[in-house]
Amino acid sequence: MSLSYVMASADSPWSTYLAQIERVLPYLGGLARWADTLRRPKRTLVVDVPIEMDDGSVRHFEGYRVQHSLTRGPGKGGVRYHPDVTLEEVMALAAWMTIKTAAVNLPFGGAKGGVRVDPVRLSIKELEKLTRRYTSEIGIIIGPHQDIPAPDVNTNAQVMAWMMDTYSMNVGATTTGVVTGKPLHLGGSLGRVKATGRGVFITGREAARRLNLDLNGATVAVQGFGNVGSAAAELFHQAGARIVAVQDQDGSIADPRGLDLAALVPHVRAHGSVAGFTHAEPIDAEAFWDVDCDILIPAALEGQLDAQRARRVKARLVLEGANGPTLPGADDILAERGVLVVPDVICNAGGVTVSYFEWVQDFSSFFWNEDEVNLRLDRIMVDALRRIWDTADRHRIALRTATFAVACERILMAREERGLYP
Ligand code: GLU
Repeated sequence: MSLSYVMASADSPWSTYLAQIERVLPYLGGLARWADTLRRPKRTLVVDVPIEMDDGSVRHFEGYRVQHSLTRGPGKGGVRYHPDVTLEEVMALAAWMTIKTAAVNLPFGGAKGGVRVDPVRLSIKELEKLTRRYTSEIGIIIGPHQDIPAPDVNTNAQVMAWMMDTYSMNVGATTTGVVTGKPLHLGGSLGRVKATGRGVFITGREAARRLNLDLNGATVAVQGFGNVGSAAAELFHQAGARIVAVQDQDGSIADPRGLDLAALVPHVRAHGSVAGFTHAEPIDAEAFWDVDCDILIPAALEGQLDAQRARRVKARLVLEGANGPTLPGADDILAERGVLVVPDVICNAGGVTVSYFEWVQDFSSFFWNEDEVNLRLDRIMVDALRRIWDTADRHRIALRTATFAVACERILMAREERGLYP
């Protein structure tokens, strides 16, 4: 056990985040004196989540909700169900939400939650109980004006409906604004499900333009075929690109002529994985990183692109659909090799941006059509990226450090203006 829980263990997502903060400090001027604000989560809650299983036994799961920053507004960020979730991971994910909401200038801080559980092993009833008990336990710090959860890895609109219902029953009033990513008839927003993938596509489209890379005929490899990877793949496909490889937790497939997405999507829906898809070559998991492609989209979990893989990547453009997929050492290698990386904190910000739209629609009880959602998302992402690119050009720095510079300036300016209490 380290002396303080804010100390990072080697190669953890939290250590990646802290290294990213060190890199931005030279560009923050006098605001850098507030840097410790970014190195410490504001509030961390660890909860025990006991549930009665279908067989009558009682099992305990460990759950977390971390509010990294509430400086610019309520906490915002997803809830993840995964057997490898740790407090340190959730701290990093919460911190990246702080950077992300500031990078697109949404009036939110950053938060994240998680439960260490393998949801595939739970029945629907057990999943509902787990969600309801977890929501009750973190109920003391969430709320539509305090901290607003959303879907993340292995959580979806149904889980959000249970969270909304549990919170509402506990406070005695239907409170749709307490979570985002809800089903449409329960205060959800059109366009939310595909928003993260759409944001990956929008930032990819803008980056490709800079590289003079024509999306029509470009080749794309995607790691992760969940909500983010599949939506992004479909949009690139619609723009004329070929999806030449897809990898998920159970398999990797490739076809240099381009995968048939119209067949792949129902296969994944039916079998839970790209594994076993017969219209493509199965490839070795490690060979995925050697695939010939123009664009690589890591859209799975953290820490996937290490230095060794970064040396092998063939793509000219990496779009981080996942949170924290690239280790700092790999970042340097990609930069040396001239590979452009659009970092997670702007690349996958489409999800939280439409979450913001959903939250606004819930408060005004006035709902937008899908075109309006997509149009506003496009505009916000393009504007945010332009500002980030200006910063990168001005200082001659990587897009990641530039995104952190834009975001940290907003966060620390707010910090300074609010002042220390008491
Ligand atoms: N889980 C998503 C993310 O990592 C969305 C969070 C949200 O909508 O609050 O950005």
